[in-house]
Amino acid sequence: MANARLRAPGDAAAAAMLQEAEPLGKATELWKPASDGRLTCTACARYCTLREGQTGLCGVRQVVDGQGRLLVYGRVITGHVDPIEKKPVQHYMPGTRIFSVATTGCNWLCQYCQNYDISQRRKVEGTALGPEEVVDLALQSRAQGIAYTYNQPSIFLEFARDIGLEARKKGLFNIFVSNGYDTPEGVAEMRKFLDCITVDFKGNAEPAFVRKYIGVPDPEPIFDTLHRLRTETDIHVEITDLVVPEVGDDLDACRKLCQRVLDEFGPLMPIHFLRWHPDYKMLDLPMTPIPTLEAHYRVAKDVGLEYVYLGNTHGHPLEDTYCHGCGAVVVDRHGFDIRSWRLDTKGKDNFCKACGTKVPIVGPLDPAYREERFFGVV
Ligand code: SF4
Ligand SMILES: [Zn+2]
Repeated sequence: MANARLRAPGDAAAAAMLQEAEPLGKATELWKPASDGRLTCTACARYCTLREGQTGLCGVRQVVDGQGRLLVYGRVITGHVDPIEKKPVQHYMPGTRIFSVATTGCNWLCQYCQNYDISQRRKVEGTALGPEEVVDLALQSRAQGIAYTYNQPSIFLEFARDIGLEARKKGLFNIFVSNGYDTPEGVAEMRKFLDCITVDFKGNAEPAFVRKYIGVPDPEPIFDTLHRLRTETDIHVEITDLVVPEVGDDLDACRKLCQRVLDEFGPLMPIHFLRWHPDYKMLDLPMTPIPTLEAHYRVAKDVGLEYVYLGNTHGHPLEDTYCHGCGAVVVDRHGFDIRSWRLDTKGKDNFCKACGTKVPIVGPLDPAYREERFFGVV
């Protein structure tokens, strides 16, 4: 697809061709009028207000001929098959295969982003694929769901929605791996197609951390998103927190975050503390020490959260799921693998084999996973 915003060369015929060329992407809905003929983007909590020709901070939404356009509509920069546990999602459709897609751009500017080549690219690139074609690729990959991940999916929400609606028609579910920096308008769109979301805090959502290392003025919109997800949707939610050593590992901030998660969602909300590694512009800090992550685990348990995990810590016992009724290991994991499953599944509900408590994991262990890769049913 040609880019009509390109500077026209001197050649008149070439200029005429460029004028006729279709602009990038598609005119989309998540915009509202602002003063002076400008448009405000409502896809994320930055609410960029843009004049004709201006592009938002994410690099993928622009005002063209008075319309708000999503420049990456129909442009997919990457697609991979991953286990759902890699998202990380531990309490929804365990053992399933997920087709993960992304576009370029992002509304956050994380200085340590491990996907910076995609997320911080301010150039619209990728393979031209419509919603149906993305779903076809997912089906060809034998995936059971599609994840919108690697960059922030809210910035391409209208494209994700159209893929997601098509995916549902074909029996696939949809997951956002999100920073949660969303809007009421965005959550209303998510309701139409999203089944699961993992909301990823960083540095315990400490305001000084998010300002300095992410370029986000205030983490409050993330809590607003969580509240809306809880009260306005039935989307399955999990929470992660990337623990950055020395600068984003404050235990008081962790306690505050856990308390808000408890107040908003109750004690059964899964929370994952993720190990950080140096990347992009932050290469001078070490990987998060395991004792730092374990200290976060203890704070979360002390606050009253029942399902607390460590992530990116292959082989650590806190990757396992422990029944909140009796403490037994009900799902034994190693990295992204499930090694044993000690739950009785009835429909989409699961009950501890040891004590009968209902454990808040949605869905059975995927039958294909059980058949192909699983050896340890107890
Ligand atoms: S999605 Fe992009 S254009 Fe829209 S408000 Fe966020 S950063 Fe700005
Ligand atoms: Zn139990």
